[in-house]
Amino acid sequence: MTMWPGAVRCVVCEHSGADMMLVQVIETGSGPGRGQYACPSPCAQQYAKRFYAPDWLREDLYARGLWP
Ligand SMILES: [Zn+2]
Repeated sequence: MTMWPGAVRCVVCEHSGADMMLVQVIETGSGPGRGQYACPSPCAQQYAKRFYAPDWLREDLYARGLWP
């Protein structure tokens, strides 16, 4: 699968768009991890409530005025 900036797909609603924010990094064990993206609002906000969401996601949302 090809991923390029500006055409990433939201992991929550599966829409694609240019204004996605990183919500999770999947560690592959070799090389850099693969990023997962979501719409800042509301998808990333919903994602941040999941138990496996990374701590830095809530900080990112807070910086954008989207958290809590
Ligand atoms: Zn979305």
